[in-house]
Amino acid sequence: MRWKRWARDAIDYCADRFGILARHVREMRDGITVLMYHRVLPPSECNDYPFPTLVMPSPFFRDQVSWLAANCTVLPLCAALPLAGRARERPLVALTFDDGYADNFEHAAAIIEEHGVRGSFYVTTGACASGALLWFDEAALFARSAGIEAVYDAARRCGFLASSAGRPWRSLREFIEALKTWDGSARIGFIAALRDRFAPADDGPHAARRFRLMTREQVRDLHGRGHECGSHTVHHALLPRLSRAEAERELRESKAWLEETTGEAARGFCYPNGDASTLVRALVAEAGYDYACGTRPGRNRAGSDRYMLRRIDVTPQRVVTSAGHYSERAFRAEASLFHAWMR
Ligand SMILES: [Zn+2]
Repeated sequence: MRWKRWARDAIDYCADRFGILARHVREMRDGITVLMYHRVLPPSECNDYPFPTLVMPSPFFRDQVSWLAANCTVLPLCAALPLAGRARERPLVALTFDDGYADNFEHAAAIIEEHGVRGSFYVTTGACASGALLWFDEAALFARSAGIEAVYDAARRCGFLASSAGRPWRSLREFIEALKTWDGSARIGFIAALRDRFAPADDGPHAARRFRLMTREQVRDLHGRGHECGSHTVHHALLPRLSRAEAERELRESKAWLEETTGEAARGFCYPNGDASTLVRALVAEAGYDYACGTRPGRNRAGSDRYMLRRIDVTPQRVVTSAGHYSERAFRAEASLFHAWMR
């Protein structure tokens, strides 16, 4: 792994030195670059989050926004989309945030605003309204506090897994990926069963603070400050696995909650887990959303599918050097798709 990072450092250095990286950055002027983030936290709080690819340390993020604000036109995605086909001097970039964590309000938005730009935030409205944790965070906390084997055993004993269901999950990742394949109602029922069987998933004095989503007031405030607030469903639902009626409800109710909160039409949607089907895409359009974000990498040009916009997943692991230091060069290589081109 380490040698791969070292090789990537060397390739990035050469690409920068010989103008190849600059050429890729210039190519960003063709289309809209949509960057995907989830959480932005101070470094001291990052290690505790169980999904390390989803949390960007705030100093790294500040550096990224600083480069983007100096070199690109950064707009909320709803404002960038109408400009897709126009010729321009500077790359057009949108910063997008999935899930609706409170740290988006406390850290990400504050950093974005320091640089005079605005972002797009896709909120899981049910968890914002109730103060509940997102299902994968809660499941991860139970796995951490009780152990994955005990959680697996509970799934069998409570009838969520057949007794012939094979071996226990071997890692947190395998556990969460398995839960993603379950029906939404089974997943909700299983997490409720874990709450009954085990100590609260809130495994320390700071857990609730560390995992919580934005409140309704914070969403309203964010919107009032010029950021876009879009939907990420009510329950972080994996839409293709739902019935048509359930999927419609997720799309409609989250939109209504946002519109009641902000007083404005919610036009943006973001598929949880990037999961969509032909039917789901049609339902998103029918529900009145103007566009939807997926998770496939790439840039969006005029004529790109508005209901499956491509995004670049900016993970902390891809923007550090082999020595573990933040690298603006590596960030430019990610945002300009130079790394994707190399792969
Ligand atoms: Zn999500």
